[in-house]
Amino acid sequence: MNSLLTTASRFAFGLAHGLDSPKLSILIFHRVHARADTLFPYEPDAINFERLMRFVAASFRVMSLAEAAAGLARGELPARALVVTFDDGYADNAEVALPILQRCGIVASFFVSTGFLDGGRMWNDSVIETVRACRHEQLDLDGFGLGLCPLAGPAARRNVIASLLAHIKYLSLNEREEAIARLQATAGVASLPADLMMSCEQVRQLHRAGMEIGGHTVRHPILTTLTASEAAHEIAGGRDRLQEIIDSPVNVFAYPNGKPGSDYDHSHVELVRRLGFAAAVSTAPGVARQGADCFQLPRFTPWGQSLTTWAMRLLLQQKQTRYPVAGAAHGV
Ligand SMILES: [Zn+2]
Repeated sequence: MNSLLTTASRFAFGLAHGLDSPKLSILIFHRVHARADTLFPYEPDAINFERLMRFVAASFRVMSLAEAAAGLARGELPARALVVTFDDGYADNAEVALPILQRCGIVASFFVSTGFLDGGRMWNDSVIETVRACRHEQLDLDGFGLGLCPLAGPAARRNVIASLLAHIKYLSLNEREEAIARLQATAGVASLPADLMMSCEQVRQLHRAGMEIGGHTVRHPILTTLTASEAAHEIAGGRDRLQEIIDSPVNVFAYPNGKPGSDYDHSHVELVRRLGFAAAVSTAPGVARQGADCFQLPRFTPWGQSLTTWAMRLLLQQKQTRYPVAGAAHGV
């Protein structure tokens, strides 16, 4: 770690020490690529993820979510508490992130949607991989209300992906499938990768390595688009399947997409509590202080391509309850 960061870290924590109640920082990751992704070069790859984790391990007290939530509830959260979380269940979490976490001595929490294990694919990845594989120079997306979209270069493709994701995100699960089939036909892309998500064995591998496994529903729906019984089935069904896979209790949960009010509401918070979970996380930005609702703990992604930028944003977050957050490019 460079000395500037060490100094900045001491300064930030020094300011906080004794003046403020302990805070819980919860980081969100989705994918960790083996090598930089040409389409999303600012997403973490193995080299920069290891840099980030070395900084985190040296600067924070890293805990599992269940341990941190229990500490918050008892008013015994240690100083510099931090939880590292991964959403969705990408195979690279086991293949790339796990060895790095182990080298850094970090326990992380993995929220896995069970419906995509063993060869499935999330809808957002179907959009990304279709646009990535499209050989056309432009795509006629009139049917999506987007008109003629140029595809020359990664920036243009990222724009198209962002527009499509925004358009498709709040459709029902069936409508999403129909929209993606239409997109694939328009783009002339017949086959998409089937190895993006973890296998059940990889979930077991994470669990055996001492990592925390958490629920993230079965099919990753926006909960507010479901009936109460559908939402219960998604949340309990995903948890039950994970418990079966790892043969251990699953006590923590992440709301799909995670924006309070629009992606889940109070009824889902109550449902998660009633189902016996010990804690749940949203994607509302911020840090949690004593008295926080352990069933809606905020999380954030301190973005930045250099370790210095990333770390400074993470340290700044310590001083603020809310901070503008750039969501992962395609994280949901
Ligand atoms: Zn997710």
